[in-house]
Amino acid sequence: YQRLAGRSTNEVLELYAARSQQRKLQRSSVVTQLHEAIKKRLKQDLKNLHSFVLDLSKDFQRQSKTCLYQVLAAVQGIQLQNEAMQIFQIKAFDLEQSLQEVTERYEKEKQKRKALYNNLIELRGNIRVHCRIRPLLPFDDSAGHSISQDRQRNFSEKVAYAADDETVLVKCSRPGHASVNKTFQFERVYNDLESQDAIFADVAPLLTSLLDGYNVCIMAYGQTGSGKTYTMLGPQLEGNLAFSIEEESELGIIPRATQEVFRLISEKLPGSYWVEVSVVEVYNNEIFDLLAKDSYGKEFGVKRDVLTTREGKSDVPLLTQETVENASEFLQLVNKGLQMRVTHPTLVHAHSSRSHLVVTLTITTVVFGDNFGTLWEDEQTSQRLNKEASYTFPQKTRDSKSTSSSRAASPVQLEATEKMKQVKTRLQLVDLAGSECVGMSGVTGAALRETSFINRSLSALADVLGAIAEQRAHIPYRNSKLTHLLQDSVGGDAKLLVMLCISPGQKYLTESMQSLGFGTRARQVQRGQVKKKKIQVLSKGK
Ligand code: ADP
Ligand code: MG
Repeated sequence: YQRLAGRSTNEVLELYAARSQQRKLQRSSVVTQLHEAIKKRLKQDLKNLHSFVLDLSKDFQRQSKTCLYQVLAAVQGIQLQNEAMQIFQIKAFDLEQSLQEVTERYEKEKQKRKALYNNLIELRGNIRVHCRIRPLLPFDDSAGHSISQDRQRNFSEKVAYAADDETVLVKCSRPGHASVNKTFQFERVYNDLESQDAIFADVAPLLTSLLDGYNVCIMAYGQTGSGKTYTMLGPQLEGNLAFSIEEESELGIIPRATQEVFRLISEKLPGSYWVEVSVVEVYNNEIFDLLAKDSYGKEFGVKRDVLTTREGKSDVPLLTQETVENASEFLQLVNKGLQMRVTHPTLVHAHSSRSHLVVTLTITTVVFGDNFGTLWEDEQTSQRLNKEASYTFPQKTRDSKSTSSSRAASPVQLEATEKMKQVKTRLQLVDLAGSECVGMSGVTGAALRETSFINRSLSALADVLGAIAEQRAHIPYRNSKLTHLLQDSVGGDAKLLVMLCISPGQKYLTESMQSLGFGTRARQVQRGQVKKKKIQVLSKGK
């Protein structure tokens, strides 16, 4: 204001105008600067944003590419799996088809095998030997009075083993004795753990031969206490000779074979048939009919004799034959017969059996002329049976006259006409008496007589098998009642199975070796037969 003082109004106004102009200029330059700065900043931000977006989109592209690859790979995998699945399906179909073919072929082969089975058995010879080694049992320890503790312990030591399914190994070294280390070969060897079931499974195929017209014999051989009765019948009841029917899994060969025979008959056999049973005991070279009844219908043991018929077959006239309809009827009958058995306890075993038990099942089939033969599966058998039938038929008429009333009541009542033919086959099941020697049993007097009869009949059996082995013209069946009785199911084309029973303890070493020797000799019969058949085939070829 001092500067303005003394100036004119115009001057002042001019001054003011210049001043405001100046300010205006100043303000606009600041705005311009600010504007520039903002513009610059914005540009930078935009640039950053742009590059960020670029990165983002690149990243997105990359990730989506990876995803795409993954999806593609997955799709490809699925396609491959689908293809594989299809291949599998085709393969499964092929397999199914070939399985069906194989099954069909198997069925055919099974039929063929069945037909070949009997031929094979014939070629292999008709005698086979199985050997069963029973477990060590508590009574194996009781060696007797005059024997030291030490020897007693040795006595119960195991010396006989099943080395494998076909080999028995006997291994023993005793002070003062030559050591034993010997093997024996048989068709089948069972160790102490094998069940009654397993034993029978190997016996059962033999029974099919019965229906093909062959006689079959199954016999248990071994010393007293070695398990013959256990194997053939089953465990015996305490203080009773009958065997227990309750425990089915424990049943032995005789009841099982009967069941199997009835099963086979109901499945396979053409025509009408019936099954008759006889139970006899061979004691001191005498045959006792255990099913015979007195005039009051009460059972009593009657002596019978065995003779040879005109056709060269063995026959026991007047022998009681009971017709049975099923296995349980049969078991009751056998048990009844067993009550009659004569036994004599020896030192070996309280229930030692001193006689041979022979249970015989006779299967008779009646077929009417035109049908006969055609219903049997293989022609050879039917031809053979046709031949057989023509000569067994007249025998029937004689039989029905000479046998007891129980036989007359059997279905033989069917009128015999020209057209009707009859075939008989026989299954003989034998529980032999103990094979131990006299010294072992420690018996005297009457029991000694028993023992020597047993030894004689068993050596007669060995002689018969030996004569068959050597193909001798004369087979000494008639040297004992036992072999005479068994003639038809031991010789000829009959099938024989010897079941050797062995006690494993050292105490029984001598008897076990004797039994194994018997079995080995019996098997040589088989080898003899093989040779014979081969020669036959060759000479036929010429
Ligand atoms: P054997 O008839 O040869 O004289 P047993 O069959 O009476 O002999 O057998 C003698 C004893 O041994 C019997 O008490 C019997 O139950 C038993 N036994 C035999 N074999 C066997 C076995 N494999 N398993 C179990 N016990 C057996
Ligand atoms: Mg016995």
